[in-house]
Formats: sequence, structure tokens, C-alpha cells
Amino acid sequence: MYRTHTCGELRLADMAKAVTLAGWVQTIRKFGAITFVDLRDRYGITQLLFGEELTRQLDEQPLGREFVIQVTGKVNERSNKNPNLATGDVEIIVSDFSILNRSAVPPFTIQDDTDGGDDLRMKYRFLDLRRNAVKKNLELRYAVNRAARNYLHQQGFMDIETPFLIKSTPEGARDFVVPSRMNPGQFYALPQSPQTFKQLLMVSGYDRYYQIVKCFRDEDLRADRQPEFTQIDCEMAFVEQEDILEMFEGMIKSIFKEVKGIDYQEKLERMTWEDAMWTYGNDKPDIRFGMQLCNLKFPAHSFRTRKSISDLITGAGFQVFDGAETVIAISVPGGSEYSRKQTDEITEWVKRPQIGMKGMVYIKCNTDGSFKSSVDKFYPEERLKAIAAAAGAKPGDLVLILAGAEERTRKASSELRLEMATRLGLRKEDEFKLLWVIDFPLFEYAEDENRWVARHHPFTSPKPSDIETMISNDPEIKDAAKYLEHPYAQIKANAYDMVMNGNEIGGGSIRIHQRELQEKMFAALGMDAEEQQHKFGFLLGAFEYGAPPHGGIAYGFDRLCAILGGSEVIRDFIAFPKNNSGRDVMLDAPSSIDEKQLVELQIKLNLNK
Ligand code: ASP
Repeated sequence: MYRTHTCGELRLADMAKAVTLAGWVQTIRKFGAITFVDLRDRYGITQLLFGEELTRQLDEQPLGREFVIQVTGKVNERSNKNPNLATGDVEIIVSDFSILNRSAVPPFTIQDDTDGGDDLRMKYRFLDLRRNAVKKNLELRYAVNRAARNYLHQQGFMDIETPFLIKSTPEGARDFVVPSRMNPGQFYALPQSPQTFKQLLMVSGYDRYYQIVKCFRDEDLRADRQPEFTQIDCEMAFVEQEDILEMFEGMIKSIFKEVKGIDYQEKLERMTWEDAMWTYGNDKPDIRFGMQLCNLKFPAHSFRTRKSISDLITGAGFQVFDGAETVIAISVPGGSEYSRKQTDEITEWVKRPQIGMKGMVYIKCNTDGSFKSSVDKFYPEERLKAIAAAAGAKPGDLVLILAGAEERTRKASSELRLEMATRLGLRKEDEFKLLWVIDFPLFEYAEDENRWVARHHPFTSPKPSDIETMISNDPEIKDAAKYLEHPYAQIKANAYDMVMNGNEIGGGSIRIHQRELQEKMFAALGMDAEEQQHKFGFLLGAFEYGAPPHGGIAYGFDRLCAILGGSEVIRDFIAFPKNNSGRDVMLDAPSSIDEKQLVELQIKLNLNK
């Protein structure tokens, strides 16, 4: 038997027990004639005491960091207790030991705050995984996995596996493809998600399906995306949007309870996409704090028409506001104290290429009731006061104002809001706020191709009240400049996203389940009948054999775990992740394959073209 106990198990109650432990050498400390060794395994660390004789043996047969050893000895009470360690009251007086395997000197220290940089840690991920910090993340991941499974099982969901080698059916991203040796010249695709399979399962009558499943998308990797990632993928039949929202609100609350011990009682707020864009500037608002956007001026074609308060800011001879399509203000609590240097620094921040603004205007709402701005030349104090009031500012606040083209300004305002909240410490890792964002537009306009694309995916159904608009109108966009006036621009999707702390953690929709409507949808996306049949004939066919109304949702499992773990870095919650260029630096993949394999596949490389 290699061990009687783990390294995290022994307590004072085990005093004088004879035990055998096995694990990795964390540290070796020689004190004169005796030696202390910290022995580590997955469960914890136990202190070992090597007496004089064994220490002499160690001189001949030295231990090193990360050696795997086995020791036998007696549990003893420590004179110098360590309250930070679960086993900190005891030590093992070693009577016998053996080295089970040696270790080369590890390339970085196996400690919480390691000296290893990202690349090195990824190259030696098997060592990185020994670190407590990473282990904690994987434990959390497993806890979330278990909580989700328990809940879904209790609710009658069935885990059904779906294939990885499928047909290329793009869902918005590029497919990874796999050449078929047995069918030369033909390729499988790896699923971007099990979307069509879960819909087929509904047609088959498995009315509650789930799977915690890998998905593959060959996207240009923005920071913190993985080419393969995991979803909690779910689908239900005979449901409306309301049923799904309730079911999955239940799931997330159950995860909170089991994993974090948090009893999240509040019913999740439901915010329309329009409201989210209007008041937060994006469709995944962080509602842990206020600082909502105040729209001082917006374009005539705005997705939202509201009574304009733009008279306040225009017509004062300030060209930046007069000429801007959109003007948006944010009130920063307590910001009137900011020095000139600080406001200059925020201005520089909004001018960074990623944010892309030309400048920023500010109004200080001093606590003595006076107002001071960077545009005093144009606006008398009374008017500054009125603008500040419109922006919801209180004495002591700082109003930041951005102006420019609609989309860029809204996006920049949203970023600025988050940045200011971060600086003010309002985005706390251990505070969680969830909401549903609903009523998304069904279509997005793709300027470069002058056509509609599905905002979610092509299987999402319009809101029941918009089906008629979709059927009775021709999708063709005759005048690109006026695409917003096309009836399709107004169609709302029967879709919903769950948002947590400014991240989309899950998204789904009620699906189209009638062949005609699905064909109309494909046609609206520019697919002719032949292409529809070639790509999705199986689904259109299935819809002819009694497809029930259905809908579902998928959660980004990696991200969910990261946020629950108080981080936004999903890589840290995946055992063997890829780096930002999509490489596995440990395996050195992707890599070239043997000529023999290429010959078998009848593939010739043509790399220089
Ligand atoms: N398959 C969708 C996705 O991966 C989720 C869903 O609609 O259920 O985004």
C-alpha cells in the first residue's frame, strides 16, 4: 500500500498513529542535525520531521524539490503550530522513507505566487496544475459542473452525446475541418455547438436535453477566447420564452447555492436590448453599479426615439456638440475632486486607439454649488448646471461627456463607464449581479455584403408578433443607406441572454420549428433553395415530421467558472488551454503531419499561395 492517509488528512486526533504518506517534496529545511520536509499532494501539505539518523541518510541521498517520496512514521503534535494549514497542528516523525521518483529542478516554483511567466507555465502545464491556485480553479469548475448536472437531472433533463465529426454548418464563426481518409476530398467539420442536433433531439421527443460539451470555433482569437471551449448546452420542447427563463434562473441560483453558498433570492431583472444599449451602451451591462449613460443628443435614425434634450447642449457655438451625431454623459460620483492632471489623464484614456474618441468634455459639480467645466467659454454656469442636472449629477460629481458618431460614441461611453467604475472600486469580484437581456433584433445588417445576418443564429425565431412582418416582406435591401427603414430592421428575436457582472454567460432562443419559416429565414440570409438543401436539408426535412415547438440555451461554462472564481481569465479555469494564438505550447500543436498521412488523405499542401 502506497499510503494510509493523504497529505491533507491528519489532525491532532490522529496523535501517535502509525501512518504512511506519499507525495511531492514542496520544501526542505535543514535545521542543524534535523530536517523538515513539507510533503504535498492534491489534498494538502503535511510536515515531516527527519531525525538525526535519517538526516545523515539524506546527506547521502539528498531530496530535491518535486521528488516523489513515501514516508512511514508516527503522528506527533507540533511545537510550532501553523494555523494557516489544515494539518498545521501535527507533523510526522519519519521512521523510514523511500524515493519513489526523482525530479529535475522545476522551471518555476510550485507556489501560489510563482515566479513562472505565462508561457513557461503553459509549456509545463502539468507542473502548473500542481499549484494550489490552479487546483482551486479546477475544483471550482468541477463543483459548477456537478451543480449544473444535479439541477438538470432533478428537472428531468437527459444527457445525450452528439457527434464531433459533423457536416459544416456555420453558425457565424469559421468551422474547424477534419479531412476524411475514407472519403478522399471530403471533410468533416467540428461542431461550433450541438445546435442542430439538440433541435433534432426535440423532434425525436427527448423534450429535456442537456450536455456539458466541447464546441469548436476557428475565430481570430481575441484576448481570452479559446478555439475549443465548453458549453452547458440545453434544449426543451413545448416551451415558451418564459419557461426557459424560469428554468435557467433556477439553474444559476442552484449553482450559486451549491458552489458559492450564496442564496441568490432576487428575481432576475429583464432588460430589453434597446434599454441596455440606451442606458449602458452595450448588450451585457454590468449592473453592480449605476453611472448610467445620459443621452444628451442622438441621431434621428436612433434605435430609440426619445424626447430630445439636445437643445441644452447645441446652439452655444460649441462645434463639437453641434456637429456630433451623438452626445453622451456619465456622472462619476465624487469626481469633482479630480485634479486637472486626473481629468487630463482620463481624456488621454478615451483617446487611446481602442476607445477612439477625439476628446472629452467635463463638468465639475462642486460641493459649494458652483460648476466648472472644460467648455466654460461656451456655456454659462446656468447652462452647465442644467446639463449636469440632466445627466443626473449631484454636488461633488464629475460629468464626463463624449461626442461623435453614434456607434463609436456609445461604445466608448460604455467602456468609459466600466473604466471609471473599476477605478472607483465598484466592480467587486465577490459581488454578483445577474439579469436577462431580451428582445434582441433578429437581424443585423452586414454592410460589406449589403445583406442581413442572423444576430443569434439562423434557427432563432422572431417574436410571435413579428412573424407576419417577416413572412410578408421581401428581405432584399434596395437602398443600403436606408437599411434601418427596412421592416426587417424592426423584427425582434425570441432570444435571451443571461448576463453576469458585465459578461454574457448564457444565450439562447425559441427556435423556428416550421419548414416554411425556416426557409424564409435562410432566404433572408441570402441562401438560395439549393444551398439550403445542401447545408440544412436534414433539418428542413425533420421539420416535416412533427417538430414540436422548442427552445433552449447554452452557457459558456469556462467563463461562468472564471467569473464565479473572481477572475476574467478563462484560461486559468481550463486544465489544458491554448494560448492567445490558439497554440498548445506544451504539445506544440498545431504542427505539421507526416508526408505519409498526407498521402493517405490525398492532400497536397499548397502553402506559398
Ligand atoms: N447554440 C447556441 C450558441 O452556441 C446557443 C443556443 O441557442 O442554445 O450560441
